[in-house]
Amino acid sequence: MFQNPLIMDIAERYKPLWALDSVGALLEWDMETYMPLGSSEPRGFTIAQMQLLRQERMLQLTDLVSKTEKATGLNDHETGFLRVLKRELDYYAKLPPKLLEDILRTATEGTVVWREARKKSDFAMFKPYLEKMVGLKRQEAEKLGYEGHPYNALMDIYEEGLTTDDVDRVFSPLRSELKAVLTKVLAAGKFPPNHPLEEMSYEEASMKRVNEDALRLLQMPQKTFRMDISTHPFTTAMSIEDVRITTRYEGKDFKASLYSTVHESGHAIYDIQVDPSLDYTPLARGMSLGVHESQSRFWENFIGRSREFVKRIYPSLKANLPFVAKYNEDDVYRYFNSAKPSLIRVDADELTYNFHIMVRYELEKRLIADEMQVSEAPETWKDLMEKYVGVRPANDAEGILQDVHWSGGMFGYFATYSLGNVIAGMFYNRIQKDLDLKATIANGDLGKVKDWLREKLHKYGATYSPKELQEQAFGETYNPQWLIRYLQEKYLT
Ligand SMILES: [Zn+2]
Repeated sequence: MFQNPLIMDIAERYKPLWALDSVGALLEWDMETYMPLGSSEPRGFTIAQMQLLRQERMLQLTDLVSKTEKATGLNDHETGFLRVLKRELDYYAKLPPKLLEDILRTATEGTVVWREARKKSDFAMFKPYLEKMVGLKRQEAEKLGYEGHPYNALMDIYEEGLTTDDVDRVFSPLRSELKAVLTKVLAAGKFPPNHPLEEMSYEEASMKRVNEDALRLLQMPQKTFRMDISTHPFTTAMSIEDVRITTRYEGKDFKASLYSTVHESGHAIYDIQVDPSLDYTPLARGMSLGVHESQSRFWENFIGRSREFVKRIYPSLKANLPFVAKYNEDDVYRYFNSAKPSLIRVDADELTYNFHIMVRYELEKRLIADEMQVSEAPETWKDLMEKYVGVRPANDAEGILQDVHWSGGMFGYFATYSLGNVIAGMFYNRIQKDLDLKATIANGDLGKVKDWLREKLHKYGATYSPKELQEQAFGETYNPQWLIRYLQEKYLT
C-alpha cells in the first residue's frame, strides 16, 4: 500500500493520532448511550482536551508533509494519504486558535440555549447565539478562503470541493421534477399520506427482534459490529474491526425504528468494508459526508423500502408485531412509502425530504453572504417552506428551531444529505448493469450487493475525493437524473 519511505515515516507517526480519534469516538458513543446523565461536563472537558492534544500532534507533522509534497511516482493510496493530511493541516493553519475556540464555546453554550428555545418555541432566546455563530462562520469562511461564493469555504469542510454551482445545478431539476411527482402521487392516492399502522403501539423487546432480523438480512458481522439505543440514531467506528450503530424505539410507528436500523447499517457497512490494510491511517474512513450518506440512503430507501425487502422482512413483522397480521405485504409496502408534505425534516419521506434541505441551503447561503439578517430568518424559513414543501409552520419549534446543526455551528452540512440521495441514485443505476438487484434482494442475497459496493467504493476509504470517485465509478458527478428517474418509476408506475 505505502512504499515511499517518507510516506511510511509519516504513517508511523500518525498512529497515535489515529488512536486519539478512536478513543474520542468511543467517548462520544458512550456519551450518547450509557454515560450517566450528570457526567456531561467532565466528559465535554475530556473530549475538548483530547482535541487540543490531537491538534498539537497533528501540527507536528506539518514540515514532514510539506517535504513529502515534492515526491514523485506516488501510488493512489499515497497521493490520497497526503491529500487528506494536507486538508487537515491547512484547516488548522488557516484558522486562528482564538476563532476555533470562540466557535466551540458558542456551539456549547448555544446548543444548551437552543434546546430550551425549541421547547418553548422561542426564537428570540436563541437569536443572539445564532447571530454570534453566523458572524464567526463568516470569519471562518474568510480565513479558509474560497473561489466564488463564501459559502463554498464552509461546504468544502464536509464535502471536499463542493460549490454552490454544484448544488444549484442539482437542486434546480430536483425541485421541479420531484414537485411534479409529488403532485401526481397526492392526486392518485395510491400511496396514502397517512396509514393506520402509524398509530399502532409496539413493545420495545418485540421491535428489537425485528431489528435483529433486519441485521441478519443485511448480513451484518457478529464479532465486529453491535447495535445499541439512543434518541438520535448514529453510527461510529472505533476501527474497521469495531463498528457500532444505535437505533431508536419510540413505542409507535414502527417504521421509524426499522429504518433507523437499516439506515445506520448502511453507514456501518461502508466503515466495515474499508480495506483492512488502510487501518490506523487517515484513509480508514468514508471520504465525505455526502458519500457516506449515499450508502445509508441506498440501504434505507433503494433497498430497504423496496417491495422485495418488504417481502423478506414481512414474516418477522408478523411474528413479532401481532397487529401487522391484519395487513398484507402490499399494505406494509404502502405504509413504508407513504408520502406527504410535512413540517419536520427527520420525519420526511423519500419524495419530500430534499425540499427540506433546499430551505436550509437557501437560508445558509444568504446568511453567510450577509444577504439576510438573522432576525429575518424565521419568516424567510416559513416562506421557503411554503414555496418548496407546500406547508407553512405555525411556530418556530416546528420551523427554524427544529434542527441542532446551527446551534452547533454546522453551516455547510445540510446539502450533503441531498447529495447522499443523488449519489445513491447514481449507485442504484450503476449496480443494475452488473446484477439483477430486485432478484438479489428477493433471494436474500444481500452479500452480493455488499461485495459490489466494496469493490466500487468502500475498499478505497478516503483515498479519493468525492468528485474523483464519482468520475471513476460513473464518469459524471452529482447527476440528479438517476434519483429523479428512480422516484418517478417507484411512485408513478
Ligand atoms: Zn445518515
